[in-house]
Amino acid sequence: MSVLVLAEHDGKQIKKATRQAITAAGAWNTPIHLVVLGHGVDTVAADAAAIAGVSEVIRVDAESLQYPLAEDVAALLLELAPKYQVILAANSAAAKNALPRVAALLDVAMISDVITITAPATYVRPTYAGSVLTTVESIDALQVLTVRATSFEAACNSAPVSIVSHAAQAAHSQARFVSATHTVSDRPELASARVVITGGRPLETRFDAILNPLAAQLNAAIGATRAAVDAGYAPNDLQVGQTGTVVAPELYIAAGVSGAAQHLAGMKDSKVIVAINLDPDAAIFQVADFGLVADLFEAVPALTAALVAE
Ligand code: FAD
Repeated sequence: MSVLVLAEHDGKQIKKATRQAITAAGAWNTPIHLVVLGHGVDTVAADAAAIAGVSEVIRVDAESLQYPLAEDVAALLLELAPKYQVILAANSAAAKNALPRVAALLDVAMISDVITITAPATYVRPTYAGSVLTTVESIDALQVLTVRATSFEAACNSAPVSIVSHAAQAAHSQARFVSATHTVSDRPELASARVVITGGRPLETRFDAILNPLAAQLNAAIGATRAAVDAGYAPNDLQVGQTGTVVAPELYIAAGVSGAAQHLAGMKDSKVIVAINLDPDAAIFQVADFGLVADLFEAVPALTAALVAE
């Protein structure tokens, strides 16, 4: 029996989070198959086949999978399931939509957001916004789980393995793709960026004007607190935290961020945390490696200017 990993890609290459999920899949010490679905995914499948640890790539190519719906992904995984002991994916929005359907249809437990696999079928996962770590064991014959990508190293490349094609089923009749709106940005992807600069509520309408120049200097992704998102200062996909993206970059700069538990849940595993806040008692300073009690409207432009002058 093998492990099946559901791949995510951008149409050209496999996402870093999937490479991290492949490292997690290595815990079973058994062959790892990677399923790549979409339309026109030959290049992606070739990229997938070169990932160390993967022993087979299953390519599912169909026009109906150009924008895969959770219903169709679940149906495909259900069809493949009998050959596997584990179905696993990075804990992304797409996987959180598809895998619980698979678990429910197979009547097995859905184990989400695993940060450590202590033994095959025993997992550590955060609850209560990361305040408590629970160890859970699943007794199901088939394990269905998502892993927190940032808790695992990304698998690198090795000699390519074989790619097999699998026919897609007919598209689900009760759901159909209508449209997609993509945020166009020349900044790195938030979930995998090496540097993240997050802004909080006080930035208001100057969110972009203050943070973008510093992000450009550091080739950083931009994040936002939920308060900044809810107020309309930053788009929803920038939200970092319990109900947003979980990040663990090498450097995390928090400007005007109070450090609420729900925000910390999404960034406290960052390697180096820098906080800029007017309030010396702000909770963010409890997790910061470097804290600056200052007005961000002065400190951030000064930092940007110093980097430009370098
Ligand atoms: P505030 O709490 O308003 O803090 C602003 C901070 O900026 C303060 O510390 C202040 O001292 C400082 N400041 C003010 N002016 C300046 C200045 N000029 N220079 C420097 N510092 C200044 N939040 C998230 O971020 N992510 C989540 O995923 C998330 N999920 C949630 C889920 C649930 C179920 C709930 C209930 C809440 C969630 N929240 C989340 C909201 C969270 O509880 C906080 O309300 C939010 O994080 C606060 O955002 P903030 O720090 O930008 O704003």
